[in-house]
Amino acid sequence: MTEFTKDEIIEILKDDTKNDWLFSLADEVRKKYVGDEIHLRALIEYTNICKNACKYCGLRCENRQLERYRLTPEEIINQAYNAVDIGFKTVVLQGGEDAFFSKDVMCEIITEIKRADVALTLSLGERSYNDLKAFRKCGADRYLIRIETTDRKLYRKMHPYMDFDNRVRCLRDLKSLGYEVGTGCLVGLPEQTIESLADDILFFKEIGADMIGIGPLIAHPQTPLKDAKNGSLTLALKVMALTRILLKDINIPATTAMETLDPNGRIMALQCGANVVMPNLSLEEHQAKYEIYPNKGINSLPLEGENSLEAKLLSIGRTISTGYGFRNKERK
Ligand code: SAH
Repeated sequence: MTEFTKDEIIEILKDDTKNDWLFSLADEVRKKYVGDEIHLRALIEYTNICKNACKYCGLRCENRQLERYRLTPEEIINQAYNAVDIGFKTVVLQGGEDAFFSKDVMCEIITEIKRADVALTLSLGERSYNDLKAFRKCGADRYLIRIETTDRKLYRKMHPYMDFDNRVRCLRDLKSLGYEVGTGCLVGLPEQTIESLADDILFFKEIGADMIGIGPLIAHPQTPLKDAKNGSLTLALKVMALTRILLKDINIPATTAMETLDPNGRIMALQCGANVVMPNLSLEEHQAKYEIYPNKGINSLPLEGENSLEAKLLSIGRTISTGYGFRNKERK
């Protein structure tokens, strides 16, 4: 079993001469523990209204240039059924922290979606224990909430009005409520250190994450980080590869932010640890408005045909799973 100490992780992250070794080791671990199947998740971005002001994110409440939208519960449910009809076995609802979606409204949406034969992932930001408990009771299976960075000082700088401990509290609540729990980090935040990225990876393990999403920072022109340098794709891939090697059988998406930096970014990610792809199934008229960063999803592949995602995946020796893609295979 491959285990790395924090010092070893730091050394690997700092040294680019052994990247080929790292990436092929991560690919081997991925193959051994989760196989060649790729799990697809239908991503529905249901609101871009957000009360937070994360310094890097285009949805931050202080970005007055963004045209805001919010799907109605009915539209969200229809979009989810649509994804199920196309063949998706998981629907992911992602949005800003929008107060319209109270506990009761969310419970109604979750209950309706769960009438279909589909696993449901929520990614709505921080919620109270009671809300999370109610969502779980209505049938929500998984929850994604990235810790973004475990460097508390940097976290505070990047997230005005927010509290690191509350985010960790959510993760622990989710775990205790029996969700499959996803978290992750941004790579390339200003002043982020390699040491803190090593801490992020160890945190993922400590919290018992079932899914980890890692993406490079992409500077958004309508945010305080407009002049920041984009994160490095290679460093993001290395953090992801190390996460695969340490956490082994978890689910790891090839993130869209990786594809924004390189047209082949997602395929690269699938070859160094990732086993999940999240195609964007948001309503077309709103897709451009869910602009957490610029040029997001412009390269997303069609689901069918010669240039399809499936054709791409087959060309690298992978297939599309027909299962729900839980980490714990006995779960459904
Ligand atoms: N409100 C939800 C969903 C946030 S959007 C929540 O709080 O969990 C999903 C992810 O997009 C975030 O967790 C963040 O890591 C990523 N993101 C936001 N802005 C970004 C940017 N400028 N570049 C790259 N990733 C970004």
